[in-house]
Amino acid sequence: MEQIRELVNVDALTGVYNRRRLFEVISEESNRYSRMPGSFSICLMDIDHFKEVNDTYGHQAGDMILQAVARSVKDGLRTIDCFGRYGGEEFLLVLPQTPLEGARIKAERVRETIERLTFPDIGDDFRVTVSIGVAEYHREESTDDTLLRADQALYAAKHDGRNNVKLAATRTPQKSPLSAPSVRPI
Ligand code: GH3
Ligand code: MG
Ligand code: MG
Repeated sequence: MEQIRELVNVDALTGVYNRRRLFEVISEESNRYSRMPGSFSICLMDIDHFKEVNDTYGHQAGDMILQAVARSVKDGLRTIDCFGRYGGEEFLLVLPQTPLEGARIKAERVRETIERLTFPDIGDDFRVTVSIGVAEYHREESTDDTLLRADQALYAAKHDGRNNVKLAATRTPQKSPLSAPSVRPI
């Protein structure tokens, strides 16, 4: 049973939770806070210039970097935190019982941890960095809206030079067709 649960919930390459499990956890968290005070936050992170890394050092090196990044974040978490691979070179950290400011501090620590990772097989000076968008769940919004706000903050972090953490706007994004496009280029 344990092995089956692992296969269903864990990303094969990196060993952290997969997208399916991340959505399950976010949904559980939002249900919990519809019944009690407090909130949870999410940190959406994306490796900077990862296409260039793949193009320069090869896909295998890219995979190894994804594994090292995932392990380093996972090792620094509390047991209630949930960390997984959201897709490609994007990861998501779900922080239960954590308001925005606490999540910002955690995200900043994660950013620093990754910046300090070394990859002797690739080169002595080689480093990777991540940009992170942080959002706190509001009980009047859907979890899709929380993710969207985190994604917009991530986009702002990229726009502001990468290797940094940005907080999401607290307002739920406008859904009017006249509002600015909210999907960032992938
Ligand atoms: P940015 O700083 O704006 O995020 O630039 P970027 O190059 O990281 O972004 P972009 O979305 O253009 O590229 C993402 C790249 O991530 C594309 C692909 O080469 C790489 N990638 C995605 N998934 C995997 C994977 O599973 N393994 C490897 N090795 N590379 C992957
Ligand atoms: Mg990306
Ligand atoms: Mg990227």
